Amino acid sequence: MKKIITIILLFVIIISGVYYLNNQPYQVEDITSIKIVNTNKIVENGAILDQYLPLLNQEDSVTDNNKDFTNGFDLVFTMKNDNVHTLTLVHDFKNKNVHFINEDSEIFTLSKEDSLFFFKNELFKGVYKKFDPNFVLSNKEMTLEASSDEFQISHTFDDLEIIEYSWDNIKAKKINTITNPNGLSVTTTNSSTELLIYENDKLIHTQTDFSKELFVPEYDGAFDYVFKVKSNHQKETHITKTVEYQIIFNRKPVFELSHDTIKQGHFLTITGKYLTLDEIQSIDTLIIEEIEFYENGHEVVAYIPIHARTKPAIYDIKIKTENKYEHLYSVEIIDQKFKIQYLYVTPSTMASTSNAAAYAEYNKYFHPVRKVSNEKKFYDEHFIMPLTARITTEFGEGRYINDAATSYSHSGLDLAAAKGTPVHAINHGIVTLSRHFALTGNTIIIDHGQGLLSYYLHLDTLNVNLNDSVTTGDLIGTVGSTGRSTGPHLHFGTSLYTTYIEPGYLIYGEPITKDNYETLFQ
Ligand SMILES: [Zn+2]
Repeated sequence: MKKIITIILLFVIIISGVYYLNNQPYQVEDITSIKIVNTNKIVENGAILDQYLPLLNQEDSVTDNNKDFTNGFDLVFTMKNDNVHTLTLVHDFKNKNVHFINEDSEIFTLSKEDSLFFFKNELFKGVYKKFDPNFVLSNKEMTLEASSDEFQISHTFDDLEIIEYSWDNIKAKKINTITNPNGLSVTTTNSSTELLIYENDKLIHTQTDFSKELFVPEYDGAFDYVFKVKSNHQKETHITKTVEYQIIFNRKPVFELSHDTIKQGHFLTITGKYLTLDEIQSIDTLIIEEIEFYENGHEVVAYIPIHARTKPAIYDIKIKTENKYEHLYSVEIIDQKFKIQYLYVTPSTMASTSNAAAYAEYNKYFHPVRKVSNEKKFYDEHFIMPLTARITTEFGEGRYINDAATSYSHSGLDLAAAKGTPVHAINHGIVTLSRHFALTGNTIIIDHGQGLLSYYLHLDTLNVNLNDSVTTGDLIGTVGSTGRSTGPHLHFGTSLYTTYIEPGYLIYGEPITKDNYETLFQ
């Protein structure tokens, strides 16, 4: 279609040129070539004249000087007799007309309707550079060259589709997928260039300063980049060019690990960008068997708890994602050197708690709850202590009970407090367990989402019920000495699913110990 219009236009030019040169009906056969000087395009002569001749006859001959000529092209006609005639084609942007000026400086004006062809045709794209930013279209390397010296965006694009062309606004649209946005740039000296970036019709960013890099979203997806370039060339004619790219960012996934060395009892956070959950195919490591990824905003995240008894060593983590990408990481697990506590329990307490029924109850009601967590993250960054009191047992402490070594590793913190001391939820969550056990007494588990659970044991009173929603600081119970307990205290624990972690990392970013708790709790 473009070619046909171009051919038609050329005939209009041919006709116009010869007509005004000779001021009489001309013979197209007499022309051997036409050179359009500004674009250096030489075109062959041709036929189909009759239907365009009347069009030219409608034009008014005007000789006044009220024209606002902006730019012209010299149409150089070479005739059979080797005569050369020059006709100047002028785009009059103020009056939105196209004029011809002949060798006698006579001016002829095309109708507005016909002038539009000249404004729109690519042959004359050079004229718009003078007038206002223009598009330059090429097949492989798409360059939006609003003007070679005013505005330029370069990337590997295909053709832009011009969707609307009017006097006041030229709109073009392009859909493109970008896998590496580093090459995306805009240079413009046009002070009235504005970039509006939309995501699902919602404006997420505007940019007017293009001395900086082009804004690129932190996450993948489909975005509409709408460039509005206002002509600042003409005093009275303000034409806006709107170029809209739908850019689909689809970058190679990137993962970040919170640590490269990590202590036992801590947890490793893996954050992935530029991917969705379904793009993750597998994650393998010897640190832990099952790892789950969650969606947090525009990122995916996985938490790997480091069990207190995980052997210190360097561990590999391999993540496979779509398109056969393999992401390899390693993390060194460091010995936390947990303390050993010597406990003495009276035979009667041992008898009442260490029996099969007590463990059966625990297995039935306690352990299953530890395997369940909401995929939604309920908690925020602000964790608090359930209460502050003297630490009597640290997280991870090994135990000798009545001088006998055990495989036991203390799963939380023991905080010695008076019976009845209020116990608070450490963050937002849902109560997934609130009941009495022979082993742990009155016990509460809160699910904070995405595998994070908190535990409150040996309570005197249970102030929340199963499935209650709690927020940070809510009173959930009071300190007691129920279950296997040697005195009023709160056993407070946190875990990522079934692996207990040091609560101090969540609350203070470091373990809570007998040595530092007074400072931390201030
Ligand atoms: Zn304890």
